Amino acid sequence: MNPTPHLALIGAGIAGLSCATALQRAGLEVSLFDKSRGPGGRMSARRGDDWQCDHGAQYFTARHPAFRAEVARWHQAGVAGVWDPRLWTFAGDSSQGRESTVERFVGIPAMTAPARYLASALAVHAPTNIEQLRLQTHGWQIFSAEQGWLETRFAAVLLAVPAPQAVAILQQAAPDLAALAGSAVMRGCWALMLRFAAPVDLPFDAAFVNQGPLRWIARNSSKPGRSGEEAWLLHACAEWSEEHLEDDPESVAAALLSAFGQLGGPVPQGWTVHRWRYADTEPALHEGCAWRPDIGLGLCGDWLNGGKVEGAWRSGRMLAEQVLRSFARC
Ligand code: FAD
Repeated sequence: MNPTPHLALIGAGIAGLSCATALQRAGLEVSLFDKSRGPGGRMSARRGDDWQCDHGAQYFTARHPAFRAEVARWHQAGVAGVWDPRLWTFAGDSSQGRESTVERFVGIPAMTAPARYLASALAVHAPTNIEQLRLQTHGWQIFSAEQGWLETRFAAVLLAVPAPQAVAILQQAAPDLAALAGSAVMRGCWALMLRFAAPVDLPFDAAFVNQGPLRWIARNSSKPGRSGEEAWLLHACAEWSEEHLEDDPESVAAALLSAFGQLGGPVPQGWTVHRWRYADTEPALHEGCAWRPDIGLGLCGDWLNGGKVEGAWRSGRMLAEQVLRSFARC
């Protein structure tokens, strides 16, 4: 009988976690590597002494039956639930409440919760920043910034990282996959987390903003299961973020606070700024995933499947299905 194939999966965001979960469930051995301290990638939250705030993905939708079933599993495990904010739209001189039939889900007690739940059943090595790959006679070897070339030879390597980070890793090992990743244009996003001593009295919990530097405002404290100080989140729009990507955080915060103030937002008692270098892909690709069975190298992630949390999760599943077919496990 063949020994169990051992695969390396780089990136413990929701795409990598979804892929690894499916592969492990089918009997393959998977080692996950992530350069951050914990799993979740862009489904993330910042924590302070007495506050927390989701500063990446704000909520997710679930349309495909397979993802709906997964979200139901998360719901049952207590790590996700529905968020039903009072929604508002700001555009030009007008501002108004917005009816919505979209079901919005969030992680509970923070956006990282579904990722942590999935990671708890997997072997995650973090922080481990993978910089290079090389194909040897007995499989793939990977190079990490922390440990150099790892001893293990892997039957396949799967990358679940943002496109520009995949390009850097793939350039030597697989120029064709590097070119595919290079064709995806990812844009930045400035995020500003605000803390208040008391609840803020505004007529909305979340707002889409179609004017000025802002794109999205959310009262983090209105999401289910949140505790601590009143926290709000501002996201700048992609165009403004790209234009100001190299600005210093203080001037970014000042511009976003001023825009929030013009929409009726009060001055916070404290704020924390975060720059997402690779937030979204414009336009997102619709390949689903990429898999080279001849050499055992694959790619998944939101940028290959329409963007968003649901697209990322499904991309991971699609890659797992292709890999399992190659290893004759389904
Ligand atoms: P990621 O979450 O980026 O995971 C990639 C992982 O790879 C990361 O953990 C990273 O640390 C790791 N990594 C990268 N390079 C290396 C390396 N060299 N070695 C090891 N590890 C590495 N989606 C929605 O559905 N709804 C929203 O409201 C929404 N809002 C968003 C707002 C912002 C500001 C941002 C940034 C994103 C938002 N998204 C939203 C998008 C959503 O977060 C992503 O689509 C999804 O989380 C991507 O998952 P992923 O696994 O493909 O990638």
